[in-house]
Amino acid sequence: MPFYVTTPIYYVNAAPHLGHAYTTIAADVMARHHRQRGEEVFFLTGTDEHGEPVADAAHALGIEPQELADRNAARFRALPPQLGATNDFFIRTTDPQHEACVQEVLSRVRDNGYVYEGTYEGWYCPRCADFKADSEIDEGNRCPIHHIVLTREREDNYFFRLSAFQQPLERLYAEREDFVAPRGRYNEALSFIRSGLRDVPLTRHKLTWGVPVPWDHEHVFYVWFDALLNYYSALSYARPGEDLTDLMWPASYHLIGKDILRFHAVYWPALLMAAGIELPEHVFVHGFLLMEGEKMSKSLGNVLDPFEVIDRYGSDALRFYLLRDVPFGQDGSVSTASFELRYESELANELGNLASRTIGMLNRYRGGEVLGAEIDPSLAEDFYLLPEQVAAHIDRAELTAALEQVWLRVRRLNRYVEEQAPWRIAKEPERAQELDRVLGTLAEGLRTVTVLLWPYLPASAERLLDALGAPDLSLAGAGLQTGRVRRVSAIESLFPKDSPADGS
Ligand SMILES: [Zn+2]
Repeated sequence: MPFYVTTPIYYVNAAPHLGHAYTTIAADVMARHHRQRGEEVFFLTGTDEHGEPVADAAHALGIEPQELADRNAARFRALPPQLGATNDFFIRTTDPQHEACVQEVLSRVRDNGYVYEGTYEGWYCPRCADFKADSEIDEGNRCPIHHIVLTREREDNYFFRLSAFQQPLERLYAEREDFVAPRGRYNEALSFIRSGLRDVPLTRHKLTWGVPVPWDHEHVFYVWFDALLNYYSALSYARPGEDLTDLMWPASYHLIGKDILRFHAVYWPALLMAAGIELPEHVFVHGFLLMEGEKMSKSLGNVLDPFEVIDRYGSDALRFYLLRDVPFGQDGSVSTASFELRYESELANELGNLASRTIGMLNRYRGGEVLGAEIDPSLAEDFYLLPEQVAAHIDRAELTAALEQVWLRVRRLNRYVEEQAPWRIAKEPERAQELDRVLGTLAEGLRTVTVLLWPYLPASAERLLDALGAPDLSLAGAGLQTGRVRRVSAIESLFPKDSPADGS
């Protein structure tokens, strides 16, 4: 089974920030997990580069839109490696292959009878690059997102016959209750559909920064339709000389923020139906990370800047914190103080300590050898079906719940150390076999949680598995099995409490 996950393509008008990092990390966790299952995985991210906001910003700087797009796209292209994220391709909507695909698919939509000429009049937000329905305008004709006064625009456009998809979309939502998740977002999209769909502009007249409409050169495609098609177009040219569309389409998961729900949960499936293209399997909507009234940490000041966290603590710590502290799919507060607390109490004191104790005791009492005894059944019971539980959560994009399952076992292993007190057993030579079993069980338990933590903490997990001499990352090998760890080597502290970059 192939697995195809996407982030939204990021709008090049702003610099990368925590929100972009969040979605990219989440998509990477899913991609890595599915690779552990031995599946063919494709992970796509990229940049959305057309539209009025980019043209306006470039104009204000006295440069061409392409130059601004090039400049900012480079910063977004650098983001995944900074986060330890392993995207398979980085798409830019100014790629000529993407533009050709947009023209081909939208011409097909027109040939299928879903495009007509008309005049649009409405309240328009140039920052959203979107017309607003009367029901969603704030007092004083303001954009509910940008709070700027909207302009009344009237223009001749080609329209997409969205209204024709009212019933097909209602049927889609009835038949596939997991098409949009979490449930609250599904309900929100469905109620928008039920409120009555109106046709929407497909093109913009007299704008030039966009994909040209092949049948009318005075128009470019509306930036949203151009952007949405990235998920489909990328597969046709991501791998030179190969078209991955048949292999990877439909997408397994589109991860999005709640602000772009309507485009992905309503316009996108309608557009695909109009073009005769299969629909994606899931649209998963994550919440917003809020930084209101946040508490300040000693080392990071008062703003949780992802790049500062990475500089001081490494990308694993950021990945862990964001998926651990805020349940994925819900809004939640983040702060430098809660980051520091998680780092110290969980990464350093729980996982870091478990690793250094286990490896330390094996070195001290057994010269680093694991003497192939069986797993302690009292512990094996607590690990029963753990990889399957984790996989089931990740199948539903419940990334925080999956991590919690693993973390409960990290804590279980620490309790096991306390219960068994190997340092006491070691004082009684006649209990040598018992000590072998406790140490072997610990080594194997540590290996298991580390394999399962790899999607979240890839760099640390790889270091740790290396020290355990057991580099296999496959999910199939993630259950407790004796004999996987034979010999351990020393390891430097995984999560130093005084972060190495902290000179103070
Ligand atoms: Zn707006």
